[in-house]
Amino acid sequence: MDDKQKALLKSLPKIDEVLVILEKRGTLERAPREKVLESIREVVAGIRSAILTGSRDAAAFLSNESAADAAAARIERLHEYSLRRVINATGIILHTNLGRAPLCKEALERIVEVGRGYSNLEFDLASGKRGLRYDHIREILCELTGAEDALVVNNNAAAVLLVLSTLARGREAIVSRGELIEIGGEFRIPEVMERSGAILREVGATNRTHLSDYEKALNENTALIMKVHTSNFRIVGFTEEVPVPELVTLGRRHGIPVMNDLGSGCFIRLEKYGLQREPTVSDAVKEGADVITFSGDKLLGGPQAGIIVGKKDQLESIKKNPLNRALRIDKLTLAALEATAKLYLNEQEAIAGLRSLTALTEPVEAATRRARRLLQTLKKEKFPGVTLALKKGFSMSGGGSLPTEQIPTVLVALRSGNLSAARIDEKLRALPVPVVARIAEDEILFDPRTLAAQELPEVRNALRAVLASREKG
Ligand SMILES: *Cc1c(COP(=O)(O)O)cnc(C)c1O
Repeated sequence: MDDKQKALLKSLPKIDEVLVILEKRGTLERAPREKVLESIREVVAGIRSAILTGSRDAAAFLSNESAADAAAARIERLHEYSLRRVINATGIILHTNLGRAPLCKEALERIVEVGRGYSNLEFDLASGKRGLRYDHIREILCELTGAEDALVVNNNAAAVLLVLSTLARGREAIVSRGELIEIGGEFRIPEVMERSGAILREVGATNRTHLSDYEKALNENTALIMKVHTSNFRIVGFTEEVPVPELVTLGRRHGIPVMNDLGSGCFIRLEKYGLQREPTVSDAVKEGADVITFSGDKLLGGPQAGIIVGKKDQLESIKKNPLNRALRIDKLTLAALEATAKLYLNEQEAIAGLRSLTALTEPVEAATRRARRLLQTLKKEKFPGVTLALKKGFSMSGGGSLPTEQIPTVLVALRSGNLSAARIDEKLRALPVPVVARIAEDEILFDPRTLAAQELPEVRNALRAVLASREKG
């Protein structure tokens, strides 16, 4: 340690003096005294180690006032929300990392209405006795899908786990090798099967599986035939899979139930809107599978949930599985899901009211109009050194749905002579309402398909904040 360092250490901020400053500023009303003291100690320790390592100009932080600023900032950070709204300019409509489907107005209203007080969550108002939470959603789900019975749990991964655990624990479930998919990192069909206690019986080859492959695998220990909709990828070329109706016929002949994990699950015919065909839940019910599982927050456009529909007797045993208690749906989710489902009583209302469906189905002209508007607004700002242009591109469905669908869009491309695209992106993400965009070839790209009209001024304000600071980077 040299003399300069020794001198600096002697003039470190005094903890009790900093505390007095913070007391006057009212910081003690923002956190308990102990917490404030701890923050001051951490700040002072930080300055001390900066002095010892010479890692930054520690002298600049030596005053009691600046230590108080730093400690108060730490306390204020405790009050900030971590989970926040962001503006999704990526064009990925069901962006799993950005919370998948935005909720419709009705769902939000139901959350507030049901959440602010008590509710009949598990209370049968007619008899005054205990009720089942699933009963609130059973009728509407059966109405929309044509199924005999319905049950909802925390998410589709939980639905798959629960079904396998009920119908195939300790016994074999036959699955085609081409359907042993992974969804978003942690969810792999083979691993979920293992956890459920079901024994995986793989049949066929990655690209081709025949009915005879299933037939040969059947034995006295077979409990289930499982079909997985390979929702997040497509095998193209020399392929063959066995359609569900054939599996159902085979299952019936041997008294083996058939489960169909649809993944996304969809209530409307997307091909009517120029998108690729995605089997609807009603189609899947008509095909005759005993149990069908799908997500609430993929193409359905509702809250995170796992929906199980199918035959009454199978669903009765699934409801009785003790795991069901661990995987059960929360009341706020249930309220939101019920409201989302009701929208589908009128398809046009569903498309207009569910932001994810609007974004998926709206013609490229509508996205183009928002792109032009954003471009005009940004041009008016005359950001120094910034060039702006419109570019053709593609949006994506995301959330492991419609993997090969390229949805045409028009992007607003921004390039700055002063800041790299990566730096702009970083600054956009650091704002109070972060903007998440795309980067390609040192340009920031904003996709209007996932931007609501009222978010366009917010994007402009975000860029004002980011491009106004004259930094080189
Ligand atoms: C997405 C998906 C799941 C998991 O659903 P979550 O709602 O994300 O839990 C399971 N199976 C398939 C086929 C899927 O596409």
